[in-house]
Parts: sequence; C-alpha cells; structure tokens
Amino acid sequence: MADCIFCKIIAGEIPAAKLVETDKVVSFLDINPVNPGHALIVPRRHVSSFLDLQQNELHVMIFVARRVAAAVTEATGSPAFNILQNDGEAAGQIVDHCHMHVIPRAPEDGFSLGWRQLSYEEGELEALQVAIRRRL
Ligand code: AMP
Repeated sequence: MADCIFCKIIAGEIPAAKLVETDKVVSFLDINPVNPGHALIVPRRHVSSFLDLQQNELHVMIFVARRVAAAVTEATGSPAFNILQNDGEAAGQIVDHCHMHVIPRAPEDGFSLGWRQLSYEEGELEALQVAIRRRL
C-alpha cells in the first residue's frame, strides 16, 4: 500500500530496527516505545485487521511474537511482558496495517492498561454466550 508506513518499512524504503524477517512476517522495534524493547510484529501483506489474516500468516505472527517476547525480555532483563493488538480506531489502532505489540514490563514501570471490570445484568452473560456461539 503506497502510503502505509509499515509497508514502507517492510519494503526497506524507510529505516527501522528490524528484529525478524520471514516470508510472511516482519518484526521491528517500535519507534516510540512504552518501554525500551517494545517491538511490533506485522504481516508483510497489507491488511488492516487481525480478522483479515490468513491462517498461515496468523501462525507465523503468533510464533514470531513468542520468539520476540522471549528475546526482548531476556535482552532487557524484563520479568514480564504484554502482547497487545489494537484492532480498529476505537481500540486505539493508529497505523492501519495490522500489527501486534510485544511490550516488556517491569513492576511499577508507570504503564497502565487501565483495565476495568464491569458486571453483567441478570441473563446478559448467558444471552451473549448464545449469540457468540451461534457465530463461531
Ligand atoms: P497502534 O496504536 O496499535 O496502531 O500502534 C502503532 C505503533 O506504531 C505505535 O506504537 C507507534 O509508535 C509505532 N510506529 C509508528 N511509526 C513507526 C515507525 N516508523 N517505526 C516504528 N514504529 C512506528
């Protein structure tokens, strides 16, 4: 895709600190990391959403994410990490080329996902279970 920054990185048209390159996937360091070592894993093929990935791309994405997470945590001495994927603008996706984040974490590193925990109304959880299962 002509105006996609990640396509340009994949094509070598703009620089990035690449970590892994396979025929399906490229991984490189995020230029504005949450913590040092924050890495991205992107499919070579330009797709916006995780839902657009083909099975063989998905497999490689997940395996590369695991490899990168192991290497990043070892290289940075981090005891923990998050794997995140923002899918869609409302979920925080800024770059419209599907990507996974591997973010090394440390206790009290100042980053919070702001996780909240709502409750279901009576019957709501069961209704959603049925609605989701029907679509699987
Ligand atoms: P997201 O909000 O999930 O779309 O995240 C996009 C990520 O891409 C952000 O964390 C950016 O810092 C990162 N990013 C944007 N441009 C570049 C670039 N040229 N090289 C490396 N990372 C980038």
